[in-house]
Amino acid sequence: MDHRPKGLAVPAAASMPTTRVQANGLLADTRGRSLRDLRISVTDRCNFRCNYCMPKEIFDKDYAYLPHTALLSFEEITRLARQFIAHGVQKIRLTGGEPLLRKNLEQLIAQLAALRTLDGTPLDITLTTNGSLLARKAAALRAAGLQRVTVSLDGLDDAVFRAMNDVDFPVADVLAGIEAARAVGLGPIKINMVVKRGTNEQEILPMARHFMGSGMVLRFIEYMDVGATNGWRMNEVMPSSEVVRLIQSELPLVPLEASQPGETAQRWGYADAQGRHDPGLGEIGVISSVTQAFCHSCNRARLSTEGQLYLCLFAEKGYDLRSLLRGGASDADLANAIGHIWQGRADNYSESRSQLGPDTGAPVKRVEMSYIGG
Ligand code: SF4
Repeated sequence: MDHRPKGLAVPAAASMPTTRVQANGLLADTRGRSLRDLRISVTDRCNFRCNYCMPKEIFDKDYAYLPHTALLSFEEITRLARQFIAHGVQKIRLTGGEPLLRKNLEQLIAQLAALRTLDGTPLDITLTTNGSLLARKAAALRAAGLQRVTVSLDGLDDAVFRAMNDVDFPVADVLAGIEAARAVGLGPIKINMVVKRGTNEQEILPMARHFMGSGMVLRFIEYMDVGATNGWRMNEVMPSSEVVRLIQSELPLVPLEASQPGETAQRWGYADAQGRHDPGLGEIGVISSVTQAFCHSCNRARLSTEGQLYLCLFAEKGYDLRSLLRGGASDADLANAIGHIWQGRADNYSESRSQLGPDTGAPVKRVEMSYIGG
């Protein structure tokens, strides 16, 4: 039974190239982009049905989710992670679906926390969650070696939040999860809000007021045409420039430098009366994949929960690493296959979207975000 989302191209069997790619951290794709950030989806399931990611009418009870046997085990994930680290990965983000639904996730985190980057430093391990299970799991995640979390929160108004997660889940429980994460020292905590015009833009200012001075970084994400099921339309996108202007109408902001190469968010700091950034008030971020593409510095790879390697959030096909893994490939062979795949990478969907225009009329076969993580 083929469990991949309908219309998604059959993943290319990651072949075993004869030439060797050095695993020395200097790997670059066709645009000179290095491989620094690996996003690992540990489940294709979620307990929310956010309509911009897993619309309820598609991801219903009859949806063909992956059987457990198809999922990479924690040992397989850790073995693959080692090969990515050999090519220069320094940051691992655990995603889903909802990653906290994966049983004993702490065990995977402990395995990853024991790994070291090429220069011998600990990996930067983080996780993106909808926060629904965070209050219960924060302490164990922290104890296992997780350093920080990003929580998706699309509004403070309970009715708006329940409508967006589409499973009637109360906002108070997510806020309690965020407080639990802060209490056990998971931080800095980032809060991701997807802004969908006509649905939750009225929550922008309440969210900004709520998180200003909290030590947490609130990021506003432009609604994206991810996957092939969310019915995306350009007129439901609120450009980040408009979000910033709206916030500045009440809370002065100043632009800040990127904190690291390949950062997806543009940073804006809350300003004091003299117009300078006041670190005590903190900052926000805007992630503008639709109106200000950042493909030129994209150093992210994505591993699906069944071992398919994707080179872009909007990819139409992946590379099957699991069959190599379970087919007896050595670590060096795995690293070599990953090296060759990345070297051939030319992905730049967001740039091309802005050049070609959103609706090319071609049938959409993009991978679902819930399958490879945001
Ligand atoms: S569209 Fe693809 S290549 Fe561009 S930034 Fe996003 S993930 Fe990277």
